[in-house]
Amino acid sequence: MKTLSNVPDKAGRFAQFGGTYVPETLMAALHQLRDTYARIHNDRTFWDQFETLLETYVGRPTPLMPADRLTAHVRQSADAKHGAAIWLKREDLAHTGAHKINNTIGQALLTQRMGKTRVIAETGAGQHGVATATAAALFGLTCDVYMGTEDVRRQHLNVVRMRMLGARVIEVDAGSRTLKDATNEAMRDWMGSVEHTHYILGSVVGPHPFPMIVRDFQCVIGNETKAQTSQRFKRAPDCIVACVGGGSNAAGIFYPFIDDTSVRLVGVEAGGTSDMLGDHAAPLCQGQPGILHGSLSYVLQDEHGQTAPVHSCSAGLDYPGVGPEHAYWKDADRVEYVSVTDAKALDAFTLLARAEGIIPALESAHAIAHALVLAADMPRSANLVINLSGRGDKDVEEAARLLGR
Ligand SMILES: *Cc1c(COP(=O)(O)O)cnc(C)c1O
Repeated sequence: MKTLSNVPDKAGRFAQFGGTYVPETLMAALHQLRDTYARIHNDRTFWDQFETLLETYVGRPTPLMPADRLTAHVRQSADAKHGAAIWLKREDLAHTGAHKINNTIGQALLTQRMGKTRVIAETGAGQHGVATATAAALFGLTCDVYMGTEDVRRQHLNVVRMRMLGARVIEVDAGSRTLKDATNEAMRDWMGSVEHTHYILGSVVGPHPFPMIVRDFQCVIGNETKAQTSQRFKRAPDCIVACVGGGSNAAGIFYPFIDDTSVRLVGVEAGGTSDMLGDHAAPLCQGQPGILHGSLSYVLQDEHGQTAPVHSCSAGLDYPGVGPEHAYWKDADRVEYVSVTDAKALDAFTLLARAEGIIPALESAHAIAHALVLAADMPRSANLVINLSGRGDKDVEEAARLLGR
């Protein structure tokens, strides 16, 4: 099998995917970012600083935990030979409760290197906004976060958190008043402010070099998993399962294993309430190649090529596009992509809470739901790792509402 890790190319391409489909006015900013990143890529002091912050501030390495009662639950309904051992990579234990902080700390450090004093971000559920506001506070950077008015209403607690951290939340009252519109506004801001402002993108999406930079910062998850699995069971895991919104937690845990085809990699998208356009957020399973937010990847679109509305019970997966590297992995048949419905994710949410005393993020619950199905078909000697991308405190009210029906 060919090497898949040597992407993107200089133009930011993952085969035909990726690239930089942006207005001319953004090209200078992207070139500056690309050049800065090329310089720090081999700069040991940068990565030492990054690793020290991950250790002392974020709390890394996050544990790899054997989920014994979850494993027992799977084995109960499998025959004597089946039921893989399930392990949880505990990103929920990272500071602010999810993997997103890995990326925002890395990009805040980049901002400092570029001599800039202000960061902006887009946010849907508010999780990336909180992670950005957190990193901005740590580095003493001015922080403005764009958020759709509909999301401001739905995710009020995160708005309060961002403001508490010293960030300004700029409400976007355009379009569907959600993440897509907030992203457009953040890009517009950046066009006029690039001299002193860095745009901290929240996932492995957007124009080159963002998908590569965010992947590289999130790779700490996969690198730790590699070290932890080889220490715990002297070999690579047989299977890794991660949820896919924009795709950053999945890319972070998959990428260090991408050239080792003995490791089965499975990405789980939001299946929502049905397979009908508008009822789910599964672009890799149901979308077509198209351009969204500056790069070519799979996108959910209607028959006219217009970006389609999406739905998921989990706000972090509620996005019509996906990172271009996932599109590349899909077309190369390296990673399998499936979708899990709201209902199945809610069942897994409750199951993990009761079986292990861990309330997962609704995003992560999608990965858990599918991992249970996979583990039941794998031999008992096999090891399956679930990337538990975040904790579920933020979701308990929504989950209770949905479960109460
Ligand atoms: C934001 C978020 C996701 C989805 O984003 P990716 O870029 O796909 O990782 C998944 N899980 C949690 C807990 C999140 O906060």
